[in-house]
Amino acid sequence: MKRREFLKKSGAATVCAAGMLATSAPSVWAKGKKFRWNMVTSWPPNLPVLQTGAERFASRVKEMSEGRLQIHVFAGGELVPPMGVFDAVSGGNVQLGSSAAYYWAGKIPAAQWFTSVPFGLNAQGMNSWLGSGGLKLWEEIYDQFNLIPRPLGNTGMQMGGWFRREINAVSDFQGLKMRIPGLGGKVVAKAGGTVVLRPGAEIFTSLERGMIDATEWVGPMHDLRMGFYKAAPYYYYPGWHEPGSCIELLINKKAYLSLPKDLQMILDSAAAESNITMLNEFEAGNGAALIELVEKHQVKLRRFPDEVLSKLKSLADETLEEEAAKSKLSLKVHQAFKKYKKEILGWGTVSEKTYYDSFT
Ligand code: CA
Repeated sequence: MKRREFLKKSGAATVCAAGMLATSAPSVWAKGKKFRWNMVTSWPPNLPVLQTGAERFASRVKEMSEGRLQIHVFAGGELVPPMGVFDAVSGGNVQLGSSAAYYWAGKIPAAQWFTSVPFGLNAQGMNSWLGSGGLKLWEEIYDQFNLIPRPLGNTGMQMGGWFRREINAVSDFQGLKMRIPGLGGKVVAKAGGTVVLRPGAEIFTSLERGMIDATEWVGPMHDLRMGFYKAAPYYYYPGWHEPGSCIELLINKKAYLSLPKDLQMILDSAAAESNITMLNEFEAGNGAALIELVEKHQVKLRRFPDEVLSKLKSLADETLEEEAAKSKLSLKVHQAFKKYKKEILGWGTVSEKTYYDSFT
């Protein structure tokens, strides 16, 4: 009896020790191990803030990990096409990616809310939403694709776009040929416009030759670089269609779990740092570029009339309801987003809006 008990106990102890070994050994072995990862992006080589930001993220991870995690960054098209980033990281061919969630709308309609939606949240709102429940939803959605998402940056408020003629009423959108992708494009189409999609490299020529009447891009810094001011005189604001686009970091989940805990934390911390740094770069760069566009290039800066914004807003609400009806997850995200936006709008109105209004 005693012997059997002893055997049972020692057997249990062996199982227990083996179990401990199985769970704790890999991270001990991985501790001194060097990891060489690849990262693919949807951005052109050397694109300021977005591609340079991905490269800075990689070098920060290397520094923080003292060389234990090294990331080789490939621009869009160098290893996989710009729109192949999601599948490459999901499939495990590469470990990391930088892109924008709304590019995957065809596959995952719910992903659109994690970049920016028309009349949605600004950068501050996106970051505070992600930090208070939004990221959990995003993780839940990407989990089925073996991916972990993290915010890696934010463009801040974008501009409404470049127009060859003035927009005085919503009827001016009738027959207007505009390059504007995503949900913003759906709203412009509802307003009577014709949405034309062009790859980045062809937009300037299309606008200059009048094949399109208008285009949106990003904000003053990137728009200046594209030279749009030479092709269209009117520069409209605000960027109602992308009030604060979040840039995503895609992490292959299996690869992430293979890292020791400290390297996982380094990846997360470097992403959080990049999220702030990219927004800072956009804000500072946009401020300076706007002055240059107006003062040096005599751009005609125009605000969309209230009547136009309010009509676009109601068409955007309609569009979002239609998109939300496409899947259970979209509806769940849309409802959470809407609830948060309502909460934060009250605070934003008495704080930021009142403060800005006090300058005029
Ligand atoms: Ca844009």
